[in-house]
Amino acid sequence: MQKIISETERYSARNYHPLPVILTKGEGVWVWDKNGKKYLDLLAAYSAVNQGHRHPKIIQAAKDQMERITITSRAFHNDKMGEFLSLLCDVTGFDKALPMNTGAEAVETSIKAARKWGSKVKGVAENKAEIIVCDNNFHGRTVTIISFSSEEQYKTGFGPFTPGFISVEFGDAQKLEEAIGENTVALLIEPVQGEGGVIVPPDGYMKKVREITERHRVLLVFDEIQTGLGRTGELFSYVHENIKPDMLIVGKALGGGVYPVSAVLSSEEVMGVFKPGDHGSTFGGNPLASAVATASIEVILDEKLSEKSKENGRYFAKRLKEMESPMVKEIRSRGLMIGVEIKKSCGTARKYCELLLEEGILCKETHDQTLRFTPPLIIEKEEIDWAVEKIKDVLSR
Ligand SMILES: *Cc1c(COP(=O)(O)O)cnc(C)c1O
Repeated sequence: MQKIISETERYSARNYHPLPVILTKGEGVWVWDKNGKKYLDLLAAYSAVNQGHRHPKIIQAAKDQMERITITSRAFHNDKMGEFLSLLCDVTGFDKALPMNTGAEAVETSIKAARKWGSKVKGVAENKAEIIVCDNNFHGRTVTIISFSSEEQYKTGFGPFTPGFISVEFGDAQKLEEAIGENTVALLIEPVQGEGGVIVPPDGYMKKVREITERHRVLLVFDEIQTGLGRTGELFSYVHENIKPDMLIVGKALGGGVYPVSAVLSSEEVMGVFKPGDHGSTFGGNPLASAVATASIEVILDEKLSEKSKENGRYFAKRLKEMESPMVKEIRSRGLMIGVEIKKSCGTARKYCELLLEEGILCKETHDQTLRFTPPLIIEKEEIDWAVEKIKDVLSR
């Protein structure tokens, strides 16, 4: 074990600090290390594997497609992308989709779409478009995206940054309205802040946000890369709010934990700003990605994973609250997206992740104090019960 870790550390850039476990196999909600020790996966690759590890239908779709053709590039049509995007538009209720690979690329795509819509449709002067974002956001790691991060570590040393972004407090609709000016083209927002520590906005906030953005003709862009595809107990988070954004960004579980697939969805009016050559990606919408994504969406629908997430998320959060651990400051959740904030006086969340690892549970802290539990959505109540006993044990030490 030490050899593999030292080799990895020797040759890889140190941009991650993984827990000391080497995973070699995964199935459903379980993963195994080199020595055959079994762990319950309560991270699910940051929600990239909502369907569970190696879901047989997704693996089969990938295998079948690999036997036919994997990439064509967008210079030619393939027989899989249309089917994928039609399903995605159908389940989200949007007119058009633009496929990319990673989440950050899809966020970049949404920024480009919003800016171009601003200049071509709304009539904002060229190079003047402003996009409002929220404090404590996480939208990815490209230079443009970190330009509007409020996390010092994500930015230090990486400047100069991309201008054109204003950050306002998450959860305060009045601050948002005050920040809107004549050049504002969009508000980019996470329905629940994930990396920021599972921050659920106050009731009624998103409804006001929708009303304000509509009134000022500002595009409401929901980054549902983490909250989407069942994670919060609805297929997409905006369903909870009974509103519809103007643009939707999806990623992570869209690839079923098998292959990176992301997409931006919007109306004909917004997507219509893209002309051939304006934007692209070599791998975006390739037939393998499309086949995997189609199967990934179908599994979420067929197995009613959103409903399962709602019910089991409630159950998991209730069981955690019943622990009444004196170490816990707050428990926040929506569906199977659960944050347990540890009191500062009880040390950082990392320590508890290390203890849970020994007990056969994988999870990862976010923002020093918060333990995040986001298991595959196929998790069963018995597995939750098993996990809660271990968590209780660790939090009582
Ligand atoms: C993970 C994440 C991203 C970035 O996705 P990558 O695939 O890592 O580039 C963007 N937004 C949100 C809300 C995320 O959780």
